[in-house]
This record gives sequence, structure tokens and C-alpha cells, in this order.
Amino acid sequence: MTMHVHNIVDGARTGAPTIERRNPARPAEVVAVSPASSAADVDAAVGAAEKAQPGWAALTPVARGAVLLDAADLLRQRQPQIAADLVREEGKTRAEAMGEVRRAIDVLRFFGAAGWRSTGETLPSVVPHTSVHTRSEPLGVVGLITPWNFPIAIPAWKMAPALVSGNAVVIKPAELTPLSVDHLATALHDAGLPAGVLNVVHGEGAVAGEALAAHSDVAALSFTGSTAVGRHLHDVVSARRARVQLEMGGKNAYLVLDDADVDHAAATVAAGAFGLTGQACTATSRVYVTPGIRDAFVERLRSHAAAARAGDGLDDGTTMGPVVSQAQLDKDLAAIEGAVAAGHDGGSIADPDGLLLQPVVFSDVSHDSPLARDEVFGPVVAVVDVADYEVGLARVNDSSYGLTAGVCTRDLGTAHDFAARARVGVVKVNRPTTGLDLNVPFGGIRDSSSNTFREQGARAVDFYTWSKSVYVGHDV
Ligand code: ADP
Repeated sequence: MTMHVHNIVDGARTGAPTIERRNPARPAEVVAVSPASSAADVDAAVGAAEKAQPGWAALTPVARGAVLLDAADLLRQRQPQIAADLVREEGKTRAEAMGEVRRAIDVLRFFGAAGWRSTGETLPSVVPHTSVHTRSEPLGVVGLITPWNFPIAIPAWKMAPALVSGNAVVIKPAELTPLSVDHLATALHDAGLPAGVLNVVHGEGAVAGEALAAHSDVAALSFTGSTAVGRHLHDVVSARRARVQLEMGGKNAYLVLDDADVDHAAATVAAGAFGLTGQACTATSRVYVTPGIRDAFVERLRSHAAAARAGDGLDDGTTMGPVVSQAQLDKDLAAIEGAVAAGHDGGSIADPDGLLLQPVVFSDVSHDSPLARDEVFGPVVAVVDVADYEVGLARVNDSSYGLTAGVCTRDLGTAHDFAARARVGVVKVNRPTTGLDLNVPFGGIRDSSSNTFREQGARAVDFYTWSKSVYVGHDV
């Protein structure tokens, strides 16, 4: 069934749906049609947000949090249907989609409950009979631009801290996945969110996204997407001296050492590389292996790749969903062809079936090869031989990206040394590079993130607030 998705502006559904989204596993099926919004549509949404924000900010944090908590309950009731829609529009497996919706639910619960906790400090004053405290004030209207790969979790983890802090929000979701964010916004409105506090404007990034980033009344912009677009938006938003937060690409490395458990190491790398069809900014895409474990590791990793059953995520037995789009598949195939042409050993590589691509493991890859340096965003992994731990660590750190990295070892000293010296925002020891806890700060360095405010965890609210200091004399 085709869903007609509209913008949500000032609580009303507006905009003629024209952008078609087809199921990547079943291209004949049009899943959703959504509006191609203009700069004027964005302006109307920002205006509605500005009008609604003072009333929302005047509520207590507990009252704002209650809306998030009630919305979480509604999402929980609707979880199977939302997950099925997420599979149809984005292509995950049902289990991955159920997990993602669950993540959105938990994020709303976490930040909903945060409404109960005070965020200010009490400080001593140098002046007698004076008390000092700080208040966290909302910024006003904040803009969110989100990608297709986690179409409900990312909007939730940006929206929830923004809303509970008293901001009004305008979100421009990815054009490939309009349905998931519509479910999220619907749950929030059904839970009693006042009209105008959350506005959803669908459309092309270069039109609607650009207009949101450039709008003079948008106090802050949080973006997740490609590094190229993120860098551009950084300039657009910084030029008008507004606040900007960017989560961008990755080229996440794993270091597999001789003392690792080889079965566990292969399973860990396979989960990070092939889970979510490799379409995660935290996906493992290059692996450095020391000589003693190298052959056994490559063989086992290839077994995991061969065992993957690519298919429609709603079908039983599918372990890996399709590539999201023909454009993304073309990029994956170009990376594969380039690696084959460079003489890397990819084993027997099957032709894609529609957008279904079997994972590919390249061994004998050189560290300078594009496959080991450039982000692919698909189930393709480069294995690079290294002589020892020190060389491997140096290679891990030799990247323009700095999001996540992992080490497989059973040596505690090595694990801690790697954690201290890996130049990334998130380190994993014997755990996949993908998979993050919602109560833990997330973000990278270098070309992966803006490296200012972290997302997720209790301090995620910092991006959406400013600190005011209050001096109260109480001797009069
Ligand atoms: P991806 O490669 O994951 O699609 P993009 O960076 O192209 O990453 O897209 C992420 C989000 O950024 C999407 O919502 C997209 O519409 C938006 N976007 C793309 N180009 C621009 C732009 N020039 N200005 C603002 N937003 C954009």
C-alpha cells in the first residue's frame, strides 16, 4: 500500500506528495510519496515553530518530558507496524527495524525522564548573602537534517533532547525515508505535543535542507549525513554565527591481533561490516590483521560473508536487507570493481540481484588503496596485513575519518593501550564497531564529526541549550 506522507506545519498536514519512494527489495512497490518542499514551505514551518516555542518553553520540563514518555508508549504499541514500514522504505531486516524502533522508544523514555532531573549548578559567590545558580535555557527554533540509514532512531535522538529542553523543532528528513519520521511525529502529536512545536518538512536536501540551514531564525542545526554535505552546511550555518552539530562519514577500522579468539574476531568484524547491509556510519570497513591469525581469520570472515542471506527484510530467513538505492549500489559496485582492478583478492564475487548484494571480503589489500581509505557504505570490507600491533595501530589512525575503531585481543594491557591511543570518538574492544548505547556520548573527530557537541547520553542536551548565570542577593 502506498502511503501519502505530508509535511506537518503548525499541527496541520500540508504539501502535495510528489517524491516517490519504492521498496528497495521490491521495486514495483511504491511505499510512500512525500512533498518536494520549497524554501517558502520551510519558512512557514520555521514561523510556526517560532510562534509555538515560548508556550512550550513555559511548561515545566516534567510536563514536556511527559509528552515524550506518552509518545514512547504509543510507539511501543505501534512498533510492529512502524518496523514493517521502516523495512519497506529503507530495507533493513525486520529484526534490525524492530531494534531501531525500540531504540527510538528508549530514547524518548530516556529524555522524557530527564525532564525530572535538574540541569543547573549551584555555586558559591564571593559576595556575602548571595547565592548563584545556573539555568539551561532553550535556544529557540532548532533545525534537524537527517539521513535515510536510521530513519527513526536518528530523528528521535536529535528531537528528544531538543524538545525536552524547551525548543521548537523543524526537521527535514531524508527524501528516501519519509514514512518513519512521520510515524514518530504522529506519535508525539497523539501524545499531546502542541501544534507548531515539531514541524516536519520533506523534500530535497539542496532545496528544503539548504533553506533550513540558511534560515536566519534557526538558532542551531544538527545534521547527520555525508561528509561533503556536512562540511558545506558547517559553512552555511557558521556564516550566520548559529550553532552547528555534524555527524558525517567514517572509515572504521578493526585491528585483529594474534592473541584474539579467531571465531569471535570473525563474528565481531562480520557483524560490524555486514549488519545493516554495511550502511552505517559506524560500519567496519577495513581490518588490519597480524600474521599468526591472518589466514584463519580471512577464511572465517569469508564464511560469514557467504552465509549472509540477502533478501527482503520482511521475509523469514533474510539476514541482510537490500542496498538502499541504485545510486548507492552503483557506488558499492564501483568500489568493488576498483578493488578487483587493483588486484585485491575478493574471492568469487556474485553479481547483484536487483539491489541485493552479497557481502564481499577483499584480502591482500594495500593500506594506500582507495578501498582501505574511502568510505563505501556497503557490505564490502578490506583486509590489510600488518606486521604487528604498532604498525596496525598506526594504520588505524592514518585516516581522514575518526569515528569508531576496534581491537580484538585478550590482553588487557593491549586493550587499554589501544583505547588510549586510537584517534577516534568511540573505541570497541572485542565488540562490533556498530551498536551504541543511547546513554553514552556519541561522536567522532576529524572528518567524521564537528567535534564540538556530542550526541546521545545525558549531555546531548548541551547542544540545544545555553547556560544563564543567576545571582540572588537575599539580605534585603
Ligand atoms: P547520504 O549520502 O546519506 O544520502 P546526504 O548528506 O546526501 O547523505 O544526505 C543527508 C541529509 O542531508 C538528507 O536529509 C539530505 O536531503 C540532506 N541534504 C543533502 N544535500 C543537502 C544540502 N545541500 N543542504 C542541506 N541538506 C542537504
